[in-house]
Amino acid sequence: MTVKTILTEPNKLLRQVSLPVEKVRNEERRLMDDMLETMYEAKGIGLAAIQIGVPKRIIVMDISKDDEKKPMYFVNPIIKNKNSDYSTYEEGCLSVPNQFAEVNRPSTCEVEYLDYNGSKKVLKATGLLATCIQHEMDHLEGILFIDYLSKLKKMMIVKKLSKQKNKVDRIVV
Ligand code: ZN
Repeated sequence: MTVKTILTEPNKLLRQVSLPVEKVRNEERRLMDDMLETMYEAKGIGLAAIQIGVPKRIIVMDISKDDEKKPMYFVNPIIKNKNSDYSTYEEGCLSVPNQFAEVNRPSTCEVEYLDYNGSKKVLKATGLLATCIQHEMDHLEGILFIDYLSKLKKMMIVKKLSKQKNKVDRIVV
């Protein structure tokens, strides 16, 4: 397993629509292992493949609060039956470092996907799980949580991130 570099906004790759996986093979499993390792290292609870630069419809998540790891893998996920009730969480994103904002999303949903072994599964998600899976699925469409904010707020965040990126190390010799 290898820890990969997580892409951060602004980055054109993060805006790319990811492509379906034909079959879950060892190559995909290796990618999921790397994604999970990268996510744990960054102390995140979800990661989409595009966040490490791979445009495949693959997501890993672990929303367990205790020390015991409970990784979840979603390949080609499709969301069904979104609730018309919304819930609000303060969201952050490994690709939008140190920025947080409240986002409303359907409070429950059903997800159809292939698991780590390529078996078809259906999951009924509520609470944090529902929000997290919808946030990650947005990544597959090239959408970031800051896209839900007002233009001004989004602009301020992107500006801040661009500045951070352009910062050059200062040395005194
Ligand atoms: Zn994210």
